[in-house]
Amino acid sequence: MRQFDFVFDDVSKSSADYVEKIETEIRKQFEYFNAVSKYNSNKVIDAFRKCNISARHFNMSTGYGYSDDSRDKLDELFATIFGAEKAIVSPQIASGTHAITVALFGILRPGDTLLSISGTPYDTLLSVLGNENDENIGSLRNFGIHYDQLELNSKDELDTENILMKLSKNKSIKVVYIQRSRGYSWRKAISISDMEKCISEIKMHFPEIIIMVDNCYGEFCETKEPTDVGADIIIGSLIKNPGGGLAPTGGYIAGKEKYIDLIAQRLTCPGVGREVGSYYASYLPFYQGIYFAPRIVCEALKGAELTSAVFQKMGFQVYPNQGQERADITQSIMFRDENIMLAFMHAVQSASPVDSCAIPYPWDMPGYADKVVMAAGTFIQGASIELSADGPMREPYIAYFQGGLSYENIKLAIMIAVDKISKIKGCI
Ligand SMILES: *Cc1c(COP(=O)(O)O)cnc(C)c1O
Repeated sequence: MRQFDFVFDDVSKSSADYVEKIETEIRKQFEYFNAVSKYNSNKVIDAFRKCNISARHFNMSTGYGYSDDSRDKLDELFATIFGAEKAIVSPQIASGTHAITVALFGILRPGDTLLSISGTPYDTLLSVLGNENDENIGSLRNFGIHYDQLELNSKDELDTENILMKLSKNKSIKVVYIQRSRGYSWRKAISISDMEKCISEIKMHFPEIIIMVDNCYGEFCETKEPTDVGADIIIGSLIKNPGGGLAPTGGYIAGKEKYIDLIAQRLTCPGVGREVGSYYASYLPFYQGIYFAPRIVCEALKGAELTSAVFQKMGFQVYPNQGQERADITQSIMFRDENIMLAFMHAVQSASPVDSCAIPYPWDMPGYADKVVMAAGTFIQGASIELSADGPMREPYIAYFQGGLSYENIKLAIMIAVDKISKIKGCI
């Protein structure tokens, strides 16, 4: 087919050709992502039709937001897409961490135990769980809620045998928690099939246990969601996958009606629940965002795959490897060198549509032991469904890369990175 080559003045021909050549070698994998996207797009369109979405559902509301039809319809739409009985989708949820926090506090009571079965949860959740030197900031621990965790097995999968043993020993466990994405660890994301096997075993022996899944970064990476394979509650952020790059803020919680109703009491107030909550702006971008989300996730997956292939070829360790199963949109690259890691961050920033002339510097981020460097030139502040990368400045210098609303943009970032890194390392 005829090609139209656009020449970027900061990408040499050799770097561009290098990336183009690798791209032709991984086309097959792109077909798989396209097939997943096609299925998920159809699932979303089907839900829009079943829910009878109309222009009036985009209308804003004010004050208490009693009988806010747009809000209620958006909840119904997400529930339908995720095969859940009910959902809460709200711009009043400030972040993914907030959504998870509301869900945990909605379900757990003093004396209960929360058991994570995918190792240590995402960094920002640690202060929500609390620890022994905790001051009184209202963590779960401060409220007398216990926490325990199990690691993944040697194959990076849920360790069902150990989980069942733990559940039979500790009768105070009420919620079993799974983090689908890998977060800041060098491990596999949990696949839906792995989750399905483990959840069915848990449900068979301990039907009263509530399965909660942190679904951040995982939505639409596969044709099923955790709720399709027995999870009782799933949670995510709208400035990641399901916001489709358009939702300006917010989060969602979806699952069994009895749990979602309890969580709604915590989101607003006991006795009031989901009856209130207005939004003095159109709900349009939330609807448009979820509509585009499967496509946007597909762009991100293709970009992650290209990134993986290119850096593997350049001699770096990557995770996942090119061709490996992807259950979330993130890609890790181990640079083993401070300057190369920084060059990569500069490339990502300079390829961004916003703030392309900014230069990312490592900084002392609150709550982290080492300096952290971040690259993000996003339309929505901090949105990591958009082109972004970050990582702590410490051995072995791992960058976590994700998002990009268009594959072309991700490819540009990779070309610029190849250009910069080959000048340092001379590896292409
Ligand atoms: C991003 C993320 C969170 C937290 O979401 P924020 O919006 O950053 O608070 C939690 N878990 C995982 C796996 C994430 O990727």
